Amino acid sequence: MYDIIIVGAGTAGLSAAIYGVRAGKKVLVFEEKSYGGQIVNTPSVENYPGIKNISGFEFATNLYEQAIELGAVVKYEKVLGLEIKENTKDLTKTILVKTPEEEYESKTLILATGAKNRPLGIEGEQEYIGRGLSYCATCDGMFFRGKDVAVVGGGNTALEDAGFLSNYCNRVYVIHRRNEFRGEEHLVQNLRTKSNIEFVLESKVIGIEGEGSLKRIKIINTNSKEEKVIDIAGLFVAIGQMPDNSAFSDVVSLDGYGYIHGNEDCKTNVPGIFVAGDCRTKTVRQLTTAASDGAVAALAACEYIG
Ligand code: NDP
Repeated sequence: MYDIIIVGAGTAGLSAAIYGVRAGKKVLVFEEKSYGGQIVNTPSVENYPGIKNISGFEFATNLYEQAIELGAVVKYEKVLGLEIKENTKDLTKTILVKTPEEEYESKTLILATGAKNRPLGIEGEQEYIGRGLSYCATCDGMFFRGKDVAVVGGGNTALEDAGFLSNYCNRVYVIHRRNEFRGEEHLVQNLRTKSNIEFVLESKVIGIEGEGSLKRIKIINTNSKEEKVIDIAGLFVAIGQMPDNSAFSDVVSLDGYGYIHGNEDCKTNVPGIFVAGDCRTKTVRQLTTAASDGAVAALAACEYIG
């Protein structure tokens, strides 16, 4: 019997583990692939309070080692599903966590599954990550100061990213597949006032090229089918996130996008099950808010155990 089982060894999950073990709880963390979550793809983290500059990988490794050294156990098993177990003897409820290997029982559960950036799904995309292609303008925008860049997407994230980048970059192309934006009108209007923003509408990115680092992209107009090459140093992909909480949807409540319903208290609709980080319904998905959620969820779990 564990006190706290955590699903996901990203920033939220590992922060929760640190708080859990420091409170004297028996903590088990499940991770499907490798620890660290999204931050490992960021070359340089410069917006985490108290740390001037650190690579995403080093940040994640520090966090992982800290959790392990304090006594958290990490198992690399994919969580396939959950079950609430009612114990008739003492009327308590525990949570069964199912993996292909085994069933684990815990008094509480913290879901910290994160969210993945939706990829463009074009050839070369993986190859250029960290070499000109990024999914996070606030993390990587500073590396493109004075350069020409493009943002792909038409939602609030893309519009906000374009506004942010326009403060540092020479020219910012906003490439969107339709001629209407999904994001808010006031954000669009704000971009229209900026002289270094250029809208490239009804267009899709179909190719990424470069020599070592990204140098140009190929786009296609969705109506005329005309192809065009744009020379840029950076491509910011902001076409939405993809949470993956389907394995838990029969136990906890999800919103229409698949995020787990939870407020700042990190409680889900099920007593004893908490949610932390990017997989939670929230507006600011940053490293700091993930770490913060981890602490809040772990302390809430400790309080629940009593
Ligand atoms: P959204 O899902 O809102 O937007 C994704 C955008 O990417 C859409 O314009 C979509 O086009 C486009 N897109 C999706 N798939 C592809 C593809 N394969 N190729 C090209 N384009 C594609 O995601 P966001 O990350 O922008 O926002 C997520 C949520 O977070 C939203 O609810 C948003 O409002 C919210 N948010 C709020 C903020 C705020 O309030 N300040 C800031 C940032 C986000 P199409 O429109 O044609 O479907």
